[in-house]
Amino acid sequence: MSRTFVGMPAFPKAAAVSTQDRRLRANLTHATHTIRDKRAKAVTELDDWAELRLAGKEIKDRTLAELDRYLLQAEAAVTAAGGTVHWAADAAEANRIVAELVKATGEREVVKVKSMATQEIELNEALAAEGITAYETDLAELIVQLGDDLPSHILVPAIHRNRAEIRDIFAQNMADWGRPAPDGLTDTPAELAEAARLHLREKFLRAKVAVSGANFLVAETGTLVVVESEGNGRMCLTLPETLISVVGIEKVVPTWRDLEVFLQLLPRSSTAERMNPYTSTWSGTTDGDGPSAFHLVLLDNGRTDTLADQVGRQALRCIRCSACLNVCPVYERAGGHAYGSPYPGPIGAILSPQLRGLQSEVDASLPYASSLCGACYEVCPVAIDIPEVLVHLREKVAEKGGAGHRLERVAMKSASWLLDHPAAYSMALRGTGLARGVQPRRVPIPGAAKAWTDSRDLPALPEQSFRAWWSKGENR
Ligand code: SF4
Repeated sequence: MSRTFVGMPAFPKAAAVSTQDRRLRANLTHATHTIRDKRAKAVTELDDWAELRLAGKEIKDRTLAELDRYLLQAEAAVTAAGGTVHWAADAAEANRIVAELVKATGEREVVKVKSMATQEIELNEALAAEGITAYETDLAELIVQLGDDLPSHILVPAIHRNRAEIRDIFAQNMADWGRPAPDGLTDTPAELAEAARLHLREKFLRAKVAVSGANFLVAETGTLVVVESEGNGRMCLTLPETLISVVGIEKVVPTWRDLEVFLQLLPRSSTAERMNPYTSTWSGTTDGDGPSAFHLVLLDNGRTDTLADQVGRQALRCIRCSACLNVCPVYERAGGHAYGSPYPGPIGAILSPQLRGLQSEVDASLPYASSLCGACYEVCPVAIDIPEVLVHLREKVAEKGGAGHRLERVAMKSASWLLDHPAAYSMALRGTGLARGVQPRRVPIPGAAKAWTDSRDLPALPEQSFRAWWSKGENR
């Protein structure tokens, strides 16, 4: 059984700990700056990047507006191609369907292609509870699994680990999961990759069942698409006898023509590559070629609720490139685990609270895990206005109440009264001016304002108010 995000503290508490971890911050700063610089270069190579971005946004919006129609079209096409489609309303239903499909094969282990949807539903843990072992085959996911760790980045789940740590994880834990690490393993990339290759090769050759997600589902032909860099995904997609793909319903694109846009946007935004190294597509089954049984589990798990929100629904455009994580100053300092979800960073801050609801302390804290600097929006290849959704979700959190927000409401009401009474307002301004000399640099009363000033100085009060300055006529 691996670790899960269940029971994680709210973002401010988790971030207060992780921001003190100097090694984590060094690992993250190095990795995110490297990827973001490469991405910026890869994007500027294309003269029509802005048009591509707009096309990606519009295709997604058009598809989401008629999602029911495209999903039914995809279901019919997958079925006609020899696959079986299952509909899962939530994580529990999806996990039950997958566990039953695996058990029906008589197998007790599966190999997995990297998949955010299966992390979201905690499929590995659900399968383990049924006596089925899931082996991650993506290199970074393998590092997370062997280290009994949690993913901290969408694209590079082990981004918080450096090479020396990975070497130690391989040397200490590989033997518990299969072929041990070679004796005398060093932390050179080639040796680490070879150790992983040998370890995984046994699993690929033995596996009868594979579980994947998908980056896209082309409705017109019922074709699933996985893009990856290592080729491990393709081994899982072709060698086993049964393939089960768990795919969020927002992954559908109407046509191959539409897919063409995303196959240009995604590699440059994620790995800064001009073209993706391994792009695998499959439609149902083909005699004598690849898995003989194919099941597609279409997952809702909060997506239709998200779609119902006029502002928040743009989060469903996300193609999981992770560009927003790599430019986010909050993510860079707090790390991915602080978000209490497999979806960290700016996209996690708007997606997790919408998929899971705002009831928990963790989810209610996520819309505040941002400085609203807007860097995430600038780099997003499908133009998701993340700051807009963050503010929208903050409004929802505030409407729900809570101690901090009650104080905020009292403060706003007082301000509203003051602004409605000019004489009282002038008197308050004079009083503020007199307080200048004794103004503290930190708010001493426990609460959100104190937490805010624990890491920042309160700005000094000005020598005179705007009104006083204006009445002196110094501006004329
Ligand atoms: S929100 Fe945009 S930038 Fe962030 S992962 Fe999704 S597509 Fe990429």
